[in-house]
Amino acid sequence: MTGPHGWGYGQDDGPSEWYKSYPVAQGNRQSPIDIVSAKAVYDPGLKPLNISYESCTSLNISNNGHSVMVEFEDADDKTAISGGPFENPFRLKQFHFHWGTKPSQGSEHTVDGKPFPSELHLVHWNARKYATFGEAAAAPDGLAVIGVFLEVRIAKIKIKLSFFFQGTKAQFRSFNPKCLLPLSLDYWTYPGSLTTPPLNESVTWIVLKESVKISEKQLEKFRTLLFTSEEDQRIQMVNNFRPPQPLRGRVVRASFKA
Ligand SMILES: [Zn+2]
Repeated sequence: MTGPHGWGYGQDDGPSEWYKSYPVAQGNRQSPIDIVSAKAVYDPGLKPLNISYESCTSLNISNNGHSVMVEFEDADDKTAISGGPFENPFRLKQFHFHWGTKPSQGSEHTVDGKPFPSELHLVHWNARKYATFGEAAAAPDGLAVIGVFLEVRIAKIKIKLSFFFQGTKAQFRSFNPKCLLPLSLDYWTYPGSLTTPPLNESVTWIVLKESVKISEKQLEKFRTLLFTSEEDQRIQMVNNFRPPQPLRGRVVRASFKA
């Protein structure tokens, strides 16, 4: 089955096939990766991450055929991250999730070979340097994505999902993604890519060390979403993650001492 965008997570159109339409899939800074914690290099020059989501404005929530995504107003720097490895503030554009069929898989990044049941991605762009999100997404220093591992425990994350088919969109106002972050903002950082086609090598990744909790019930709700639109044969949205890619000489830096 080929998804609405010509790629998906199935046998015929999944991650192992993406290079055919997107040759950069075999490039030198692809994501996700396995983070080998003992090999990460503590960099005392890395500043603490400054996340100011106080006045952010969420617009809508949608099933985009690959994930569930919440989009934000990004006309100014109100909602931005700064500090960390960045020289400019990066504006929040959207967040989305990756998950599996069972809790033993689902995240994109892994730590010491271990996957988490789900991973949240908060996608930001460098609006100081680039005029549009699209322009930034094509530049080596255009995007910053924060990855947060989700562990199955007592509910912290609760997002109401009342739409199932690909292409469904609903208004989703005044949601502050701050509640999706762990207490500690210790992170690993490395130069990488988008983990979905077009796989642009434009992302500075910030992967938070501390995970947050999600309930099994919420994960079950993610799994009731569909990759397909209303007229098509139903295919459950599960295992929407890309496996770890080769490091190819890249160094993962840590903001904390192991
Ligand atoms: Zn993602």
